[in-house]
Amino acid sequence: MTDIQALDSRYVAHTYARAPVTFVRGEGCRLYDEAGKAYIDMGSGIAVNALGYGDEGWVAAVSAQAGQLAHASNLYHTAPQALLAQRLCERTGMKRVFFGNSGAEANECAIKAARRYSALKHGENVRPVILTLENSFHGRTLATLAATGQDAFHHDFGPFPEGFRHVPANDVTALKTALSVGDVCALLIETIQGEGGVNCLTEEYIRAAREMTEARDILLMIDEVQTGNGRTGKLYSYQHFGILPDVVSTAKGLAGGLPMGACLLGEKTADALTPGTHGSTFGGNPVCAAAALYVQDRLTDELMAEVAQKGEWVRAELEQLPGVTVSGRGLMLGVESARPAAALVSDLLSRGVVALTAKTRLRLLPPLTIPWPDLKEAVSIIKEALSA
Ligand SMILES: *Cc1c(COP(=O)(O)O)cnc(C)c1O
Repeated sequence: MTDIQALDSRYVAHTYARAPVTFVRGEGCRLYDEAGKAYIDMGSGIAVNALGYGDEGWVAAVSAQAGQLAHASNLYHTAPQALLAQRLCERTGMKRVFFGNSGAEANECAIKAARRYSALKHGENVRPVILTLENSFHGRTLATLAATGQDAFHHDFGPFPEGFRHVPANDVTALKTALSVGDVCALLIETIQGEGGVNCLTEEYIRAAREMTEARDILLMIDEVQTGNGRTGKLYSYQHFGILPDVVSTAKGLAGGLPMGACLLGEKTADALTPGTHGSTFGGNPVCAAAALYVQDRLTDELMAEVAQKGEWVRAELEQLPGVTVSGRGLMLGVESARPAAALVSDLLSRGVVALTAKTRLRLLPPLTIPWPDLKEAVSIIKEALSA
């Protein structure tokens, strides 16, 4: 254990089972530890560093904004926030954006917007329930934990806010029954359950969810915290399915490495939140917004086509190995193999590749800009580890 690791262990809350590595520097899609050892990054933090490390344009945008105006209260206007909201709306079909600082906060806003839409339209508390899926993940605050459909996260933290029910994923009949109870204001889903193991919802299920919610004036809210911002080969993953949700939440890769969350409100909820009903001190911070605006410039159709192509290539390569199956889409991939995922990740770390787990699977979330040579090198190391 190094000095820094000893300090960390003594003074930082033990909420993470940290790997015995201290990163000091990043460049492109490589990370460097205290001893100068290089690692190819196949995790991007957790889907955060969409442009890798030290991207010149990103650093310039952040530095310029930090020098000009690092923070102003949301009691006033700032240009980066307004320009970013415009860009996000124009690229998604949503109408307004609320900015927070994390995925959980983006989902908190979605939950509040849904409840208030319902209260204003259907009367106070008539339809309070938010439906979510079993095995989902929506965050660590108490409400987003209640929304999260995995009991492992719930133990010892109750009581939880009421008004959440879970249904099995990809079960259209169960969804129809649950939506028909009459107390549901919104359905909140991830198109690919990230923390849940990189499990894809089927196209049939997503389309049915859109049709059934629409018919009952129930909001369809897509949690794009992990799948968003180009990760799956579209700006937002719902865009693969030709549907328009009512609310989209996002964070992780949004600002390319700075903390930022956004709740994109569609036609129905655009005016659900009025002055005084919601807010955030730091939300939409000019530096984070300038970073996110720059990320938006870089998330071109060409880059997203490359993300899709690279994802397909990785899948084909890894599935050549016997007993290996790959789930996910674009550069959000889950790898199922005979080797336990946690052992695989620490083996990869010693071989110089940073990767993640998702339940029983190895999870790969490289920077969206990862160059072919680095990707090929990482995949060949991953193949060695899978075969070990
Ligand atoms: C990571 C994640 C969250 C929580 O985001 P935080 O920024 O950690 O609050 C919520 N939903 C999904 C789908 C996520 O992957």
